[in-house]
Amino acid sequence: MWRALFVSLSRNRTMKERVMRWGFVWRAASRFVAGERLEDGLRAIRELEAMGIGGILDHLGENVESAADAMRATEDYLLALDHLTALGMRPHLAVKLTHLGLDIGEEICEGNLRRVIERAAQVGTVVEIDMESSVYTERTLRLYRRLAPQYPNTRVAIQAYLYRSREDVERLIEEGIARIRLCKGAYQEPPHIAYPRKRDVDASYVRLMERLLSAEARQRGAYVAIATHDERIIQHALRRIAEWEVPRDAFEFQMLYGIRRDLQISLARQGYTVRVYVPYGTEWYPYFMRRLGERPANVWFVVRNLLRA
Ligand SMILES: Cc1cc2nc3c(=O)[nH]c(=O)nc-3n(C[C@H](O)[C@H](O)[C@H](O)COP(=O)(O)OP(=O)(O)OC[C@H]3O[C@@H](n4cnc5c(N)ncnc54)[C@H](O)[C@@H]3O)c2cc1C
Repeated sequence: MWRALFVSLSRNRTMKERVMRWGFVWRAASRFVAGERLEDGLRAIRELEAMGIGGILDHLGENVESAADAMRATEDYLLALDHLTALGMRPHLAVKLTHLGLDIGEEICEGNLRRVIERAAQVGTVVEIDMESSVYTERTLRLYRRLAPQYPNTRVAIQAYLYRSREDVERLIEEGIARIRLCKGAYQEPPHIAYPRKRDVDASYVRLMERLLSAEARQRGAYVAIATHDERIIQHALRRIAEWEVPRDAFEFQMLYGIRRDLQISLARQGYTVRVYVPYGTEWYPYFMRRLGERPANVWFVVRNLLRA
């Protein structure tokens, strides 16, 4: 109910135009978004790197409506890669396929994605494909499958709340391209597509995580980025990793900018690979709405900023 409200707000243009003008909303959003410019994203990543934490740079944007906008987004990613190279930085990049034109056509999107992945490969970094709502799951996996065998510097996100994810994970393991960022899922999905109850989503997460950490999956090249702030699941992962002697190069932990910094630092200090997803850009509204939808307490954070204004 709560999530449904904010996911629906995230798509509402009138709200977007209104809300983005209110300074106190931006102040609240800036807990989760590094800033509006590339330099803001890079500054946040530098700060993380100083603490032994890697970055995943996300240029905010989704559901572009023209080929020209998709091209512009692609050029922005290429420009970001040039900047990173000049600065000697190698954070991963996160891309949303609807930012690169998936709503316009699969071919346009594939061409744009290929350019970003190729340039990332040249400079020695990785492109992580975010997973959006279930309307895009099939097409996102199809594009990933087409490019992943040729480009080992690609990964894809899988959402534990989708019923289909079990089969998707099996198929990717089978094909030797299970380089997966495992998350719970941030959109609003109907009960015939996704587990409606949190406890079932968590159970599915643990099942998929264990499968990807298993010796059999690892032998087929599986790599899992455990993308969650759920301490119970992280502790469970650490127990399994120790028990099954999973090598450090078969997994990592990932979290979002502005969430559970304490946990990010603690895992990095214990010597685990930790990467933080750092969004930047002017299109922060839908991303921020999804963060509000995940946690009712975040709305008080907005209200506090309003009262302070
Ligand atoms: C690196 C990364 C990449 C992601 N990529 C995708 C993607 O491609 N597609 C997709 O659908 N989803 C993505 N997500 C979002 C994910 O699906 C969840 O919606 C989000 O991570 C919250 O779930 P949780 O696993 O942290 O567990 P929860 O059980 O929701 O939360 C566990 C704890 O984390 C903290 N927490 C969680 N969310 C918030 C919040 N918004 N504000 C403050 N504290 C919070 C709280 O302490 C909470 O008790 C990504 C998440 C991460 C970490």
